Order: sequence, then structure tokens, then C-alpha cells
Amino acid sequence: MDRPTIDHRGPEFARLGTECMEGVKAIFKMGDGQVFIYPGSGTGAWEAAIVNTLSPGDRVLMFETGHFATLWKRMAENFGLAVDFVPGDWRHGADPAVLRQKLEQDSGRQIKAVMCVHNETSTGVTSRIAELRQAMDAADHPALLMVDVVSSLGSIDFRQREWRVDVAVAGSQKGLMLPPGLGFNAVSPKALAASKSARLPRAYWSWEEMIPANGAGFFPYTPGTNLLYGLREAIRILVHVEGLENVFKRHARHAEATRRAVRAWGLELLCLEPAEYSNSLTAIVMPEGRNEAEFRKVVLENFDLSLGAGLGRLAGRVFRIGHLGDLNDLMLCGTLCGVEMGLEKASVPFTKGGVAAALAFLAAS
Ligand code: PLP
Repeated sequence: MDRPTIDHRGPEFARLGTECMEGVKAIFKMGDGQVFIYPGSGTGAWEAAIVNTLSPGDRVLMFETGHFATLWKRMAENFGLAVDFVPGDWRHGADPAVLRQKLEQDSGRQIKAVMCVHNETSTGVTSRIAELRQAMDAADHPALLMVDVVSSLGSIDFRQREWRVDVAVAGSQKGLMLPPGLGFNAVSPKALAASKSARLPRAYWSWEEMIPANGAGFFPYTPGTNLLYGLREAIRILVHVEGLENVFKRHARHAEATRRAVRAWGLELLCLEPAEYSNSLTAIVMPEGRNEAEFRKVVLENFDLSLGAGLGRLAGRVFRIGHLGDLNDLMLCGTLCGVEMGLEKASVPFTKGGVAAALAFLAAS
């Protein structure tokens, strides 16, 4: 990315833009449809998904899986949508049985969209999108399916075409291994058609404004050119050098090693459903009476290791180990060593041997 910024109306840029917009489709595992790449963040891409597909007063169904689901729900309400927010305990993913029941009850087909966070970055819980899709099919319901893949894309298998996801919302700063600054909407033909009659006001995020310029590899405004250099390289590495399936296996292996370390320490995983364990990150419950912020401070000051904070209602109670993106065995082990040394330094009650348990698993797998 550390290269001169080129003219974003010139032929070299047209090639870059086209390579990014077409190449990134492989990471979403898309069929027909279009990917819109915004200079923005995941939050902007959430907004783009809402304003392009829905109208004021529309009913949508969302699931309280954690902090990010709660923020997306608040945004939907700010746009005047009627949100049916299925309550959750922040330790499980969205429940396909509840989804099916809600949709079957909606005989008038009032629900226009089902909106779900694939990987809850605040909890380390991955919702089962394939099963949610099956539940929608079983209820024979036409709602759009919109999925936040901010912390799953490029780390955990996501299949836009197979699962018939209508809008996938992503950002550059996680599995794509880039700095923050790009937001993505990967959009199905059905969602593109819905955008024609949707009436929420939109300007910057309008897909319609993007389509003609994107067709030639350009943007209707100044794009994040240097981030696009990085995106082109990320596509090359993920799709063509390591291969997506190998990337997913690498993260699954690192996640399992992390969970083994946590269990050996005698600490509790926040995620209660093994089928929903996240391969992007692991959230760990602090022992009763111990504060995660104080623990993370000790780890940062002593070992220069930055652990994830407890977010929203988990503040003070949970810390998170990220293992997504450009990570190898040595980096993971260094991280786990930092946690184990930190637990000791901060006098948190725990059992030694988490790093050894992770090493044993890595050596055998
Ligand atoms: N959704 C999820 C699952 C996230 O983890 C985040 C950020 O971490 C967001 C949405 C918001 O994205 P951003 O912070 O890029 O606006």
C-alpha cells in the first residue's frame, strides 16, 4: 500500500478497481450479484445495507447475539424500521428454530428482512447461517437475508451463493488483513431488485450511484486507492496463494488450540455451544470478582500484548483473544504465553499449563 496514489479516473485505476471488485467475489463465495466497496467502515456498510433495501416502517427480524447485533438493531430503529429483536444471552448464536417459528407466524409476509451477525466479535460465537437459511426456506418466507460478516469473512467459511444471502456486510480490517477504511456490501440480484422500490433516503451509500461508475472499474467519488492496492494483494494471498479452505483450516486449528489453553487454565469459555465456537476469536469469562480491564492492563504494561476488551454488557467480565488474519503458530503461542504470564502476574486464580496444552495440540495436528 506504500506506493504513490494514482489518478482515480485513469486507466491504471480502472484495472485496479475491476480486479478488486471482481476478485473479492471469490472471498464472499458469490454467484451473480455485485460487490460495492466504500471508503468507510463496517458501520457504514451496515447503513448501506439498510438504506438500499428497506422503506420507513418496514418490519425486520434481528437476533440479540451480542454487542454488534445490538448496535445494528439500534441503527435500524434510528431509520424508523420496526425491529423484532429476538432476545439472547450473548452466549449463543441466532436460533434457527425461533427464526422458523417467527416467519411461520408472519402469515401476512410483513417481515422484509432477517438480519444477523455471522460472527459476534463481542462474544466469540458464530451463528449457523446455513441453518438459518434452511429455516427461512422451511417457512417459505420471501424476506431478504442480510448477514454481517465483518469478523468472519476470510477467516470462517461463508458461502453467499449457496446460503442465498442477499446482502453481506464486511470491513477491511479483520480477515482481509488490511487497515480499517473499506466497507463492503456483497449484494444478490434479489437485493438489487429490492433496492429499486426501497424508499429510505440514501445518498453516499446509494448502490444506484455506484453501479454505472463501478461498471468501468471506477467510483462516483474519491476511492480509498491505497487500501485497494492492499485489497488486491489480500485477494491474491487468500484465494490464490494459501487458498481459502486452507485459511479456514488454519484458523480452526488455532481456535481449538486456544480453547484447549483456556480449559487447561481452568477458565470458562463465553460461548456455550460447541457448534458455534468462533474460529476468529475466543472470549473468556474472568473468574468471579476479577475485572478484565485490570487484567488486560497488566498484560499490556508488562508484555506489550493487547487483548480484546469486554464490550457492552460484558465490560469488566470478559476478555478476548483474537486469532484471525495473518497469524501463524508462533504468533499464537506468543499470545497464549502473554496471557498465561499475565494471569500469574495479575494474581488471577488459574491453573498453569494452558500453553503446554495448546502446544501439545498444535504438535499433534
Ligand atoms: N460488526 C462486527 C461483527 C464488528 O466486529 C464490527 C467492528 O468490530 C462492526 C460490525 C463495526 O465495524 P466498524 O468498527 O468497522 O465500523
